[in-house]
Parts: sequence; C-alpha cells; structure tokens
Amino acid sequence: MRIINHKIPDIWYGRSSNLGAARERPPVAIVLHYTTGWNGKASRDWLMGSAGGTTNRSSSAHIVVDRDGVAWQIAEFNRTTWHAGPSRYGALEGLNGFSIGIEFVNSGWLKPTGHGEFVDAFGKRFTDRSLKKLGGYLLAPHARVGSATYAWPVFPKAQIETGMDIVRALLAAYPIRAIVTHEEIDTRGWKTDPGPAFPIERFRELAGEADDRERCHIVTAGRLNLRGGPGLAFEKIIPPGTLLKDTRIKVLAREKEWAFVTPVNSAGLEGNLRGWVHGRYIAPAFDA
Ligand SMILES: [Zn+2]
Repeated sequence: MRIINHKIPDIWYGRSSNLGAARERPPVAIVLHYTTGWNGKASRDWLMGSAGGTTNRSSSAHIVVDRDGVAWQIAEFNRTTWHAGPSRYGALEGLNGFSIGIEFVNSGWLKPTGHGEFVDAFGKRFTDRSLKKLGGYLLAPHARVGSATYAWPVFPKAQIETGMDIVRALLAAYPIRAIVTHEEIDTRGWKTDPGPAFPIERFRELAGEADDRERCHIVTAGRLNLRGGPGLAFEKIIPPGTLLKDTRIKVLAREKEWAFVTPVNSAGLEGNLRGWVHGRYIAPAFDA
C-alpha cells in the first residue's frame, strides 16, 4: 500500500461529514481504537455521519478496518477527524489535531454473567462457544471497566495484517513519531480501546526503536522513580531518586516495559546520571 494525495488508492474511499479543517502540519501520531461493535459497515457509516446516512455529528476517524481485513478510508490524512476526545500524549494536547485515527472493528470487553456467558456493551449474550466461533477471546481484568475478569474478542489475523499494512504506508509517508492506544491518551480515564487482545507491540515495532534513541522524551508522571535496573525490585538511584514531570530525557535502551534513560539539558546534552524508569510514564517530546 502507498499513499497518494493523503489517500490510499488501494482501498475504498468515501468522505465523512464529521471533519475539521485541512491541517497545515503533517500528522505525527497514530491512534488505534476499537469500534465497540461487531458490524464493520454500520461503524463505518456511523463515523461518516450524514454522508453515511446516520445521525452522528460528533465522531469520525480516518480508517475503519473490518474483521475480514477489508478497510475503508473515510477521511484524507491531512484532515482533522474526531476520534481522540480529550487527550494528551507527552507534550501533545488534544490528539485529534496531530494524529491519524484507525478504528478496528471489535466489540471490546464483554462482562461475565456468572453462568458461563458473557454480555457485550449492547446487552447481547454470548457463550464460550459462540465467541470462539467469532474468532476466540482472551480473558483479562481491566480496572477501568470494573473488578471482574472480562472477555476480549481476538482481532483476526486478516484484520491485523491490513492494519499493519496501513500503518507501514503511513510511516513511509508522514513523520510519525508515536503509535498510541486511545486508552493511554484519554485524559478522562474512560477509554479501554483497543484493549488487551490487541497486539499493540507488533504495531509499535513497525515504528522501530532506531529513532527512539535519537529523539528527546519527557517525563509524564509527577515524580518518576529512577531505578538501578529494569524492574520494581531494583533500588532507586539516590540522589535524585525521582525525576520530576516534564524532565527532558534521552532513551538509551529499552527492556520490555522499562527504559534506560539519561536526563538532558535544553541543548540536548547528556549529564552523567543514568537509570531505569517505567516506559508508561515517558513520552516523546514533540517540540524537540
Ligand atoms: Zn477509541
């Protein structure tokens, strides 16, 4: 796949009515979502607003990827769409203005009934067998949903492959510096998409870690523990023990969830201090 004039000619295109103005700057992030539904065409039409014959006037995206791998583009990539809501990632506030939104058709969490069945967000019931027929599921807790263990339908192989093809094309065409989930950027703490069944690491690997080492990051937690190794069992490095919010750092290496970092000054120069921090609490400094 390739991108010509902010469109992917290989896939279906129809323009959503729910769009912001054309953007002057190219997108720098990709936000991944699920649709909270099973019906791809219905989600596509909903996100197209009046152009899709629906009453939706408040949400959209750039791409919808169905479970069978068919994708629909519903906005050019140089237009702002409405998928991220109140959101923050590192120094970026309000991701709609800077990102491309991709929606994967998936129901999201289903609640256990206690009788071997699961109920989706619309109250529809599924058995273990019926979920397996739809491609299988993963059981995982999620604090944002509640205290139970929920069923998360798997994203079929064809759907993930199409999604990765699209992300590869976007990486080749735009200066994308982050591939993020809706959950991690949502500042209200509501969103759970694309959820634990989504292979986010495979998408992040597409962006590679090569430029990770070049660019500047910032600390997003209020106080972030700086440790002697990649895990909670390692002692804090004292002084300073913690790095304060918005401290500029450079990532020297990664190990699973952990990042080996060194603080840098405003000129990007490294000091002597080095240590490990949890990768969830750092983000690219987009002003670098
Ligand atoms: Zn979302």
